[in-house]
Amino acid sequence: MTFIIAIDGPAAAGKGTLSRKIAEVYGFHHLDTGLTYRATAKALLDAGKPLDDEAIAEETALHLDLAGLDRSVLSRHEVGEAASKIAVMPAVRRALVTAQRAFSTREPGTVLDGRDIGTVVCPQAPVKLYVTASPEIRARRRYDEIVAGGGTADYEAIFADVKKRDERDMGRSDSPLKPAEDAHLLDTSEMSIEAAFQTAKAIIDAAMKK
Ligand code: C5P
Repeated sequence: MTFIIAIDGPAAAGKGTLSRKIAEVYGFHHLDTGLTYRATAKALLDAGKPLDDEAIAEETALHLDLAGLDRSVLSRHEVGEAASKIAVMPAVRRALVTAQRAFSTREPGTVLDGRDIGTVVCPQAPVKLYVTASPEIRARRRYDEIVAGGGTADYEAIFADVKKRDERDMGRSDSPLKPAEDAHLLDTSEMSIEAAFQTAKAIIDAAMKK
């Protein structure tokens, strides 16, 4: 049987970096489920289709190819905004969750990160982590990332955006962002990525021995 690691948390909490590192160290397949919402939104934008028609968005989600997800193309801010709009639609979530569950069964193990992995997509996962950090720290990290990449950024605008995205993700009625009851909470506000990884590793190793 495959071993599933479910990682949830708000935007820019460090779960992407942590998930990739865990997948690499354990030799597991990794799926950033945010990319599935982003790819669906981008396909709609590219085709000039509306973002508020659930039947059209569902049709697009049903035809999504998980093999074609490219972070560099999907990371744009407008795509993230569009993704969080279609992510409130139950039919879109149903289609993408089906694809995510199929991915989660790959051998020898999988790491899925997103907002609802431990609560909805893979509630049976033996390891569930909820990775978080204060909105100020998350906005600061995103700001530093953009500046380090040679871009210009406005901290206040990023901070407002982080809070708006949190409200949308935590406030929606279908699969709101929240920790699963049996999730381990990992607050990375005062933690390096290496320290977060070591904490996660201890939890995963203990679960693998069971
Ligand atoms: O994590 P990322 O910013 O790439 O996610 C884009 C959007 O997709 C999020 O704002 C969220 O609304 C949605 N999402 C979701 N459920 C997931 C992953 C992402 O609703 N499992």
